Amino acid sequence: MASHQDPPIRNVATVPRTKLIATIGPACREPAMLRKLISCGVDVFRLNMAHGKAEVHDATVHDIRAASAAEDRPVAILVDLAGPKIRLGQLVEDPLTLEAGQTVAFVRGNQPGGPRELTCTYATMVDEVAIGNAIVLADGVARLEVFARSPDRLECRVVDGGTIRSRQGVNMPATRLSVAALSDLDRSNAVWAARAGVEFISLSFVRRAAEMEDLRRIVQGEKGTALLVAKIEKREALDNLDEIVSAADCVMVARGDLGVEIDIEKTPLAQKRIIRLCSQLGRPVIVATQMLESMHHSRQPTRAEVSDVANAILDGADACMLSGETAIGDYPVDAVKMMKRIMYETEQNLRNRSSRMQTRESDSGWGLADSVMLGVAQIARRLDAKLVVILSSDPRAALIKSKQRDFVPTAFLSDNPVSVRQMCLYWGIIPVESELPRDIMRLSALSLDWARNKAGLTSGDRIVMVLDNEFLPGVHDTVMVGEVP
Ligand code: PEP
Repeated sequence: MASHQDPPIRNVATVPRTKLIATIGPACREPAMLRKLISCGVDVFRLNMAHGKAEVHDATVHDIRAASAAEDRPVAILVDLAGPKIRLGQLVEDPLTLEAGQTVAFVRGNQPGGPRELTCTYATMVDEVAIGNAIVLADGVARLEVFARSPDRLECRVVDGGTIRSRQGVNMPATRLSVAALSDLDRSNAVWAARAGVEFISLSFVRRAAEMEDLRRIVQGEKGTALLVAKIEKREALDNLDEIVSAADCVMVARGDLGVEIDIEKTPLAQKRIIRLCSQLGRPVIVATQMLESMHHSRQPTRAEVSDVANAILDGADACMLSGETAIGDYPVDAVKMMKRIMYETEQNLRNRSSRMQTRESDSGWGLADSVMLGVAQIARRLDAKLVVILSSDPRAALIKSKQRDFVPTAFLSDNPVSVRQMCLYWGIIPVESELPRDIMRLSALSLDWARNKAGLTSGDRIVMVLDNEFLPGVHDTVMVGEVP
């Protein structure tokens, strides 16, 4: 247990509040690089199950845990299930350049008869795509329109030409696909992730709440504690947004596929809508994909990318994600450092804007934890407290505090290592693993000690402590105020 071995946090007031997710890939998988990225501020690593073999994922989980222990920083793992991602089969001519106006055909099965015949991993595609519907290849590189169908073929006209390769993505934005949300591989990956004890599992291409519930049953069946992330990247997910966000623990604005599944110019407002709903319903929300895209091959991002990260934070994102920038880019460390710089700088503006509190009112009026945390925020403000300490094995109070966005530094001290690591995604919450004495005075002493020795507080600084009901049976959350001696 880390407890008093935590590295000194010089000044908790200057730690960026927005959390950073880095995608694992060949550019950052080595243990030394993992440590470097953690020391530069990575909070969560994403394992993309669309790529890589099971043994490699096992080794990566082990290496991330080891790097986190070596750096003495809690870091979480997000396992990203591929969901019903449809891919091209083997192309006869690979790569294949398609010119606007040409015709190609999607054929049933996996045996193309020539270079102009395409196959894909979705067996019933030929049955489900109607004449006039679009088929988008390779994340928008090429766009086709179906103009004729026969039992085994879809005849397509190339609307936007481009060069495609075997196994690149196939999207059918206007087609309601009957494909199952969780393939057999997703199910076995979910079981693996639950058994591996990862903190988050995300599902790609979610369309309905029932799909998240299905995933939850699998994880709970394995006694897994992972929080579930719904990736919003389908038009149908936007249609069913309320029920999906309610059924999920966290949400990702997965702009890569979303920008193909809906008109690309609609993605900025979709992002704002998703983030707004997540604030209302109290779900951490991640903004993902192409955030610092040009840093694949450049030490400097473009101005537009810097603005994109800043705007996501201003919109209310809890976390921003790096994909290829850390997985396969030339400058993973620079990308992480740059994103942290943008986060810190942007939050200074947010700090000035937000003395308002974003506490929610539930359907049945103010919930207990909401009310207590509203009180905590008001006490902290009135006393000019330098720190809020949540002493708990239950992450609820921390989530509410996170969504208040009030900038009083907040530490979550818990003896539950899983809850501690889940805080790595909660905006503004500093996760600290610590033994918690079952004695209210010793808890107070522990908090004041941590405030002085790890958080840089000095004599006379006030802290507000929140204890969950586990410590005093029959009493709900308890609030105490202390002063650093
Ligand atoms: C996305 O589509 O934006 C996304 C995050 O998913 P993936 O990286 O798996 O394409």
